[in-house]
Amino acid sequence: MTIEKIKNKVHAGQRLTAEDGLALFKSHDLLTLGRMASEAAQKKNGNKVYFVQNMHINPTNICVNRCTFCAFSKSKGEDGAYEMSLDDILARARTAGESVREFHIVSGLHPDLPFEWYLDMLRTLRKEFPSVHLKAFTAVEIDYLAKIAGLGLRETLLELKEAGLGSLPGGGAEIFDTPTRNTLCAEKISGARWLEVIEAAHSAGLKSNATMLYGHIETYEHRIDHLVRLRELQDRTNGFQAFIPLSFHSQNTEIKKSAYTTGFDDLKTLALSRLMLDNFDHIKAYWVMLGEKIAQVSLSFGVDDLDGTVVEERITRAAGGATDGSMTRDELLHLIRQAGKTPVERDTIYREIKVWG
Ligand code: SF4
Repeated sequence: MTIEKIKNKVHAGQRLTAEDGLALFKSHDLLTLGRMASEAAQKKNGNKVYFVQNMHINPTNICVNRCTFCAFSKSKGEDGAYEMSLDDILARARTAGESVREFHIVSGLHPDLPFEWYLDMLRTLRKEFPSVHLKAFTAVEIDYLAKIAGLGLRETLLELKEAGLGSLPGGGAEIFDTPTRNTLCAEKISGARWLEVIEAAHSAGLKSNATMLYGHIETYEHRIDHLVRLRELQDRTNGFQAFIPLSFHSQNTEIKKSAYTTGFDDLKTLALSRLMLDNFDHIKAYWVMLGEKIAQVSLSFGVDDLDGTVVEERITRAAGGATDGSMTRDELLHLIRQAGKTPVERDTIYREIKVWG
């Protein structure tokens, strides 16, 4: 399929095949790809670019899995290992200020904390911050919590929801291809299990995002396979809100690479995601991993969401992320406006809080 034919399909609103996606990945015509993705994004969200005032909280980096690509995790007792008490978590949440709309909470898989601790954490946060949305737990954590709770997936999710869980951030997807996943994170749940957990979450009434870690040892074919599997699940559940490609950072990991993903590859991946995932409303540029400048340019390559203020993200920084993991609302507004877009402050489930002129 030539790019010209794919362009006609995009124009006509037709779904792209895996072969189309692969042809686009192999092309170097980045600007044509960007124009197609922009057209698709405009049809979905007009000129709007969303962001949320949020805070990341990573209660512990102690993890029973030690994925080879992960620079964040530590074993219990290892130098640099930490765990926050509920009081620590509350103290951190209190620094977020009145305008915060979302706490984004993900951790390692702690060997000792009981299921009840996680329920307490949600209840405690919900009690003190009733208007802040709790977006928490990767599918990997949900699978682990179900195991330590001795419950089925649905029961686990319903208990967490009852305690205050509002939605899932969509992490832990990495790359679904089994041999590649086994090299990256052999102990982690399979791609099929990730999809099963998310399907259960959607059916329990919890929305989620979806992620893909790229730029390590995967191929373009693996990326396309990942996108197609997400698209198929979305056709069944319509529970995904945003797709977030995560560019790999290798520092302090066991995956040795001399460079990060390139700007060209980042933009191509974001644009292609917009084109392949025709049933996702939003494509998010996670500036913590991409850097602010590429994230801003991506607003002309199909992206309509810049995540949020974040406030001290630890996971990417452990792997040598280029940013300090925090941005003010005014800095986000500046980036969006300079790209000729309309900033829209949102909550976690994309209700508009304020359209900034
Ligand atoms: S990626 Fe997640 S599951 Fe894997 S080692 Fe890091 S914290 Fe643990």
